Amino acid sequence: TGKFFVGGNWKCNGTKDSITKLVADLNSASLEADVDVVVAPPFIYIDQVKNSLTDRIEISAQNCWVGKGGAFTGEISGEQLKDIGCKWVVLGHSERRHVIGEKDDFIGKKAAYALSQGLGVIACIGELLEEREAGKTFDVCFQQLKAYADAVPSWDDIVIAYEPVWAIGTGKVATPQQAQEVHVAVRDWLSKNVSPEVASKTRIIYGGSVNGSNCADLATKEDIDGFLVGGASLKGPEFATIVNSVT
Ligand code: 13P
Repeated sequence: TGKFFVGGNWKCNGTKDSITKLVADLNSASLEADVDVVVAPPFIYIDQVKNSLTDRIEISAQNCWVGKGGAFTGEISGEQLKDIGCKWVVLGHSERRHVIGEKDDFIGKKAAYALSQGLGVIACIGELLEEREAGKTFDVCFQQLKAYADAVPSWDDIVIAYEPVWAIGTGKVATPQQAQEVHVAVRDWLSKNVSPEVASKTRIIYGGSVNGSNCADLATKEDIDGFLVGGASLKGPEFATIVNSVT
């Protein structure tokens, strides 16, 4: 479905020096042509990355404010992200949901506003371990999807990232079968609740402990259209391996 999409979410990591090195490694990596590649640095380093990284790789933010900028201390607006050269923004990441407490409807509003500013949205969903163990994985994912669907006017510039919370930063990657099962369910939900066209063309990428060793197996699955990579995206050569796992 669509072009393979690999995003590197650097989270709250890096210094000017470490990012200079990571950018140099990315600039010298050979990346398969037929893959969309995006990195998401912390806000304060976006300008540095924008000015030093090859145009081959697009830049994303990791979050943004819910509406137009103004008197919102500490926030960054969608229009500012556009201004500084971002093409994308990650929204609804599990760390923002579960550590910072962002709720579905707030995330949906963020997505709608970001799209209105011409940003692409990497819309994250995913269940907690206790929700999976209680058999609620699909319910949780569908509820999170519905919040996006209720808020956005179009899915043209949205990539869905399925990131089971139990797999994030734990080294416990979902099996290809586990990921594929949810991706199929997500696509089915889109087909029934948005449209069959949106379901067939929206990319659904997987995130959670993806690395250079497990990416190839995951990438063989029909409904895994790419990856959102955390820890392994901080190493240029390993990130390139993941990009090049496209089948
Ligand atoms: P890890 O790859 O470090 O598990 O993080 C995944 C993630 O949260 C990407 O957004």
